[in-house]
Amino acid sequence: MTVMSGPILDGMPRRLYRATPTRLTTWLDCPRRYRFSYLDRPPPPKGPPWAHNTVGAVVHNALAAWWRLPRQERTVAVVPSLVAEYWGDEGFRDAEQAGLWRTRAVDMVTRYVSGLDPDDEPRGVERTVGVVHEGTSLSGRVDRIDERDGVLVVVDYKTGRHVLSTDDARSSLALAVYAAAATRTLRAPCHRVELHHLPSGEVVAWEHDERTLTRHLDRADAIAAECAEADQAFHDGDASDETFPPRPSPLCGWCDYVRHCPEGSAAVGPRAPWAGLAAQEAG
Ligand code: SF4
Repeated sequence: MTVMSGPILDGMPRRLYRATPTRLTTWLDCPRRYRFSYLDRPPPPKGPPWAHNTVGAVVHNALAAWWRLPRQERTVAVVPSLVAEYWGDEGFRDAEQAGLWRTRAVDMVTRYVSGLDPDDEPRGVERTVGVVHEGTSLSGRVDRIDERDGVLVVVDYKTGRHVLSTDDARSSLALAVYAAAATRTLRAPCHRVELHHLPSGEVVAWEHDERTLTRHLDRADAIAAECAEADQAFHDGDASDETFPPRPSPLCGWCDYVRHCPEGSAAVGPRAPWAGLAAQEAG
């Protein structure tokens, strides 16, 4: 963990803690998984890749690539070649299932870009933005940052089957951090955050104000303080379950480290790498 000198508090210099929203939410979800992911070196070997992550990555990469094309090449017709460029077969049950999802990925991206205006140049695509709040330096990479009527909008693509609600946009720590960080990095106001659900074409949005953004940033800073304390304990030789307790939940079924975690293994049965796609196939 890199630390930098930061603001003065109570006469003592604070050390800025650098974190992404993903790091902070990993700590909240499960301190043991946090240790596996960010502190143990080398980390425990992960399980096999998840097919739903493969689909998500391909769709994200294809959309980013679409925006990076010269204006005249941003067409619907180019989508199959973009998906082909980024396609991988990792995690699928067999070639038939991989083929089905490759077609679905093309359909998803095609439908989505058919609703876009290729002249509507985003301010950022997969843009890294950052902001310092209290003792924490927060950064993250945003799928897309639009500029509409002089204000910025954070756009986050979703490819899972989970139907989204306004509450998902409102309560997301990551989206709030991105909005504050976009304001800081791109020097234009950003309060609106949007989740674009590609399988359904639905968009859910939330309009933050300074108060709600500050509340999220304060929360991020408080979680970061816990992470900093845990990191220090680890570097002092404490990798105990008291400091990094397992937090078994249904999420264990998707944890990359479940085979190294007796509590998580006991909480959920084994899942095939393609299990995340099964429900969508049934639908
Ligand atoms: S399997 Fe569950 S309890 Fe174990 S590390 Fe992963 S998320 Fe935590």
